Amino acid sequence: MSYGNLSKNFNVREFSCKCCGLTIIEPRLVKLLQQLRDLYNIPMQVNCSTRCYEHNEKIGSNENSLHLCGWAADVTFIGHPMHEFDKSLKKLHDEWQWGGLGTYAAKNFAHFDVGRIRTWEG
Ligand SMILES: [Zn+2]
Repeated sequence: MSYGNLSKNFNVREFSCKCCGLTIIEPRLVKLLQQLRDLYNIPMQVNCSTRCYEHNEKIGSNENSLHLCGWAADVTFIGHPMHEFDKSLKKLHDEWQWGGLGTYAAKNFAHFDVGRIRTWEG
């Protein structure tokens, strides 16, 4: 069991840009992820949070992406396929209204952000 240096289960490095290490920490996002982590009690891997402009462009994301300001994270529940969480995440989003929820069942991750309240499927 490892413990985070940012919150109970998350580390600062997990939120860094994969190409250059740029790290923008948005406390509301960290709080949300930790709340989800506590609720499900399943380890979560942050695949991608902060992105610098170059990295964001390289992977073909749009220029308004909330990853650019560290307000978004793409997350996988370790050892569990995303479709297991589809319904419950949408229900939670209805209750908590944290911002954006994008579920990507085929790619096995969910996008969480603390921007406008909306949901979509990828
Ligand atoms: Zn970068």
